[in-house]
Amino acid sequence: EGEQRPLHILFFPFLSPGHLIPAADMAALFATRGVKCTILTTPVNAAVIRSAVERANDAKGALAIDIAVVPFPDVGLPPGVESGPALNSEADRGKFFHAIQQLREPFDRFLAESRPDAVVSDSFFDWSVDAAAEHGVPRLAFLGSSLFARACSISMLRHNPVEAAPDDPDASVLLPGLPHRVELRRSQMMDPKKRPDHWAFFQRVTDADQRGYGEVFNSFHDLEPDYLEHYTTTLGRRAWLVGPVGLASKDVATRGAAANELSPDADGCLRWLEGKPSGSVVYVSFGTLSHFSPPELRELARGLNLSGKNFVWVIGGTDTEEQEWLPDGFAELLARGDRGLIIRGWAPQMLILNHAAVGVFVTHCGWNSTLEAVSAGVPMVTWPRYADQFYNEKVVVELLNVGVGVGSTDYASKLEARRVIGGEVVAEAIGRVMGNGEEGEAIRERARVLGEKARLAVEKGGSSYDDVGRLMDELMARRGL
Ligand code: UDP
Repeated sequence: EGEQRPLHILFFPFLSPGHLIPAADMAALFATRGVKCTILTTPVNAAVIRSAVERANDAKGALAIDIAVVPFPDVGLPPGVESGPALNSEADRGKFFHAIQQLREPFDRFLAESRPDAVVSDSFFDWSVDAAAEHGVPRLAFLGSSLFARACSISMLRHNPVEAAPDDPDASVLLPGLPHRVELRRSQMMDPKKRPDHWAFFQRVTDADQRGYGEVFNSFHDLEPDYLEHYTTTLGRRAWLVGPVGLASKDVATRGAAANELSPDADGCLRWLEGKPSGSVVYVSFGTLSHFSPPELRELARGLNLSGKNFVWVIGGTDTEEQEWLPDGFAELLARGDRGLIIRGWAPQMLILNHAAVGVFVTHCGWNSTLEAVSAGVPMVTWPRYADQFYNEKVVVELLNVGVGVGSTDYASKLEARRVIGGEVVAEAIGRVMGNGEEGEAIRERARVLGEKARLAVEKGGSSYDDVGRLMDELMARRGL
């Protein structure tokens, strides 16, 4: 028994597109290697990944990824509200986290009935460590973040340097014990006094991950080698780096096709890009959760105008209507249709980033977006807003040197309280990356080389390919125990 049966891994992603998408990619990646994969999620979230999963199944014939759909717990949220970006108030967020806790019951039931060989649980479900242990199933954490960000977060939780720093938002705070000298401004970091709830949450998930079997990262060895060494040797944690999962699942087209269904403007956008010279377009998107205030949007629009470059700008569904913030002349510029395009809602990001016309990505440094740019060989203008994004900016700008920052400072502060980044600053950062000078050329060349390294990592014999194999062998060997 056991010898012939393929490994079965349960994927249990957090309920937010930024977590679901890489989990589905990762399932596709393990399925390619002969693993039977199940993704456990709720109806609305299942719909986000269903077409991508079905296409991956089609493309791979017999290899199946199942989606196990469980009801979204009834906590008094409006029907259809089942994920992070759909939450509109602090009260909704409270109900949502309450619902997340209640997923333990269907999770337990799945483990009891299906007895998978391992669970790859989102790190945010800290309780899944104990649940899996009760069923004797190894629980791996899936980190939707960089090793660097995780190492910074551990340093912060251990040493709490923010508390000791001067009470000045611009004070420089050193994170002790890391391979490099890592300094952030105080205003870029979570303040345990202001957000004791967030602090406790991160403490809990970090500890839980350490008690589990190990951690799987959407990253690759060549991206952050010093931090892999630090993480495994100095901190003694077990990590497998299997990304970029968007490349590893070899489903750029699949992802693009799925995005097409979500994005009514997708075809128009891609046709528009067809007409533009190679490397001439600025792609602007801040992920699924970022909101901008009207003054911020106005300055960003001014910056794009001032840059003189072509642009595709994705504006979140919850940002205010254009009438409230359009700077002078911008409506006319948009109406001309040849300089720039605004997409409201969902953009086919993978297809856009992989289009030759795109020359730079203005990004909030969500880890998925960052890795997608890295994979596509596209340099970045970095504009982090909260969570791990300030750490990810350091990876892009300081560790890899494939981007230029706009100087974003205010971690998760209220929109009204944010310092507004001026249009001139935005235009300058774009110019530094896209310009003909030495700096721009060097940044673009490094981004191109990094994109090649990312592709090599996921190919046969590459580090991510091997890490997947190593993990599969271990899990297979455990069966005999
Ligand atoms: N995404 C997309 N189209 C959009 C917005 C987002 O395809 O219009 C995808 C993007 O490619 C990435 C994910 O959604 O895979 C967002 O994840 P990320 O970690 O960058 O940011 P988050 O939304 O979690 O802050």
